[in-house]
Amino acid sequence: MHYLITGGAGFIGSHLADELIGRGHTVTVIDDLSTGSIRNIAHLRGHDRFQYRIADMLDAPLLAELVDEADATFHLAAAVGVQLIVESPVRTIETNVRCTELVLELAAKKKKKVLITSTSEVYGKSMDIPFREDGDLVMGATTRGRWSYACSKAIDEFLAIAYWREQRLPTVVVRLFNTVGPRQTGRYGMVIPRFVAQALANEPLTVYGDGRQTRCFTHVDDAVRALAELMTCEEAVGDVYNIGNNSEISIFDLAGRIRQLTQSSSEIVYVPYSVAYEENFEDMPRRVPSIDKIEEAIGWKPECDLDQIIRSVVDHQRAEAPVLI
Ligand code: UDP
Repeated sequence: MHYLITGGAGFIGSHLADELIGRGHTVTVIDDLSTGSIRNIAHLRGHDRFQYRIADMLDAPLLAELVDEADATFHLAAAVGVQLIVESPVRTIETNVRCTELVLELAAKKKKKVLITSTSEVYGKSMDIPFREDGDLVMGATTRGRWSYACSKAIDEFLAIAYWREQRLPTVVVRLFNTVGPRQTGRYGMVIPRFVAQALANEPLTVYGDGRQTRCFTHVDDAVRALAELMTCEEAVGDVYNIGNNSEISIFDLAGRIRQLTQSSSEIVYVPYSVAYEENFEDMPRRVPSIDKIEEAIGWKPECDLDQIIRSVVDHQRAEAPVLI
């Protein structure tokens, strides 16, 4: 197959490119490098089944050509990272909604299948743990910037499902839960690369809030395996799937574990949400996926545990050397 990956120079997109090429497919990447990096795909340059275009995602003639040339599209291009979302809400909403609209509109012309990546953020403040795909989405007020991300991705989901129901464009929606691994940057807020960088530098580990909020972390290798397999799963069309690991840890315990695994002397400090993000910032107290549905559809289960996830980020950060492009 020939796949197009939007946002393919991003952290998850670049691992997906590796996975698909490893499975014998051909991959084209489009990325505007807003949060992605050429460095993430540098090792693929020159591969005879890989090509990339650095371009604006909203360049409709170009995107139309790339969608047409491919057999199917993985749409990953999005504004992500809570830090970025809080700082640039206009960019978040516009990027997330407009890009998805355009990809779906163009794909619908030739009935080319699209897999849309959404996020566990859409569950918002729901306390109905574990989060099942058919559960309610509980968002906060529109005056609180964070929720713009969840709402913009929820619109993407509605749109993808609507294209399937109304125009028979085959679409699949996935909700990714805190995906982590090599190449992820802490620049946009992601906690594990941030804590690892802090621990390796023996700087304080910055726990936001009281540290009792929990998350479940998924290794990117597990996540991209799920993406590749859901794309070809007939029963997944027109439907929504969680992709996540269901092993839960508090952010305070996470900081302790990272300090231990890196043998760091960093202290753990608490930073109020109002300082870390903005006044009135709301966090999710718990976020745990139900993964029954994806297991039933494609037999997928995560294989990497938290220690392996942390170690992969530590190894990457220790080995990282500038790549000249
Ligand atoms: N967090 C933290 N310190 C940091 C960055 C994040 O304590 O330096 C917290 C953040 O407030 C959240 C959790 O770690 O409760 C996960 O944050 P991340 O941005 O990785 O993903 P989110 O689950 O918020 O999308």
